[in-house]
Amino acid sequence: MSPPAILALDLDGVLVDGMEEYWRSSLHVAQEDFGAPWVGAPTKVPDAFRRIRPWVHTGWEMVVVAWALAHGIAEEEFLQDYPGALRQWQGRLGQSSAALQDALERHRRHCRLGDPQGWLAQHRPYPGVAERLRRCRHGGVDWVVVTTKGREFAAALLEQDRLQPTAVYGREDGPKVHVLRRLLEQRQPIWFVEDRLPTLEKVMADHQLRGIGCYLAAWGYLRHADRQQLRPPAHWLDHATFCAPFHDWPT
Ligand SMILES: [Mg+2]
Repeated sequence: MSPPAILALDLDGVLVDGMEEYWRSSLHVAQEDFGAPWVGAPTKVPDAFRRIRPWVHTGWEMVVVAWALAHGIAEEEFLQDYPGALRQWQGRLGQSSAALQDALERHRRHCRLGDPQGWLAQHRPYPGVAERLRRCRHGGVDWVVVTTKGREFAAALLEQDRLQPTAVYGREDGPKVHVLRRLLEQRQPIWFVEDRLPTLEKVMADHQLRGIGCYLAAWGYLRHADRQQLRPPAHWLDHATFCAPFHDWPT
């Protein structure tokens, strides 16, 4: 079996564990911009946040989650009906998604410029990732990052770990499905590694993207039932297999 021409990877939950930064930034914005009454230590990521995190699609949602947790919401509300709880709590907060995203990015930019080392230290590259990606380059495989994070932040994180993808596609480049369609016009085959099952399902449902290899990153932020709900042609990809040569990957 031949290796992919392009390996497309999600960033947060696949290359980098950014849970701590997400929590601290979201909580800061929820408190400072929107008056959330949080009383716990800001540095400790609450278990409830960790459990809700796999449902989150875009950054602004986490500000709503942090704001709701600060108001004493039971995490079950989010775990049982994430879209419903998100809508309801965003309504109570009374801010548009764009305003929340702006506030989050403003804060991140401030942190990144004011204390770049401290900000970057809140992200941890998963073990073995850098070596694995370096081997891609040697094997003639282009690897690219496709993330819902802003491109600027993604690039700073990758640079910290001296990771040099062929390209970084951020939130500004549109939905991941659109980015993958454009990539397909460049080179094929493409394999896509993502830790958010609904995103993989969208890719599999898109008839233009048929033929893309879809992999669910087992080491990322997964929901309880994701492994059971994973359907072919998507594959479960554990960390050891990710680090192994491409001919060991399931196809
Ligand atoms: Mg992810």
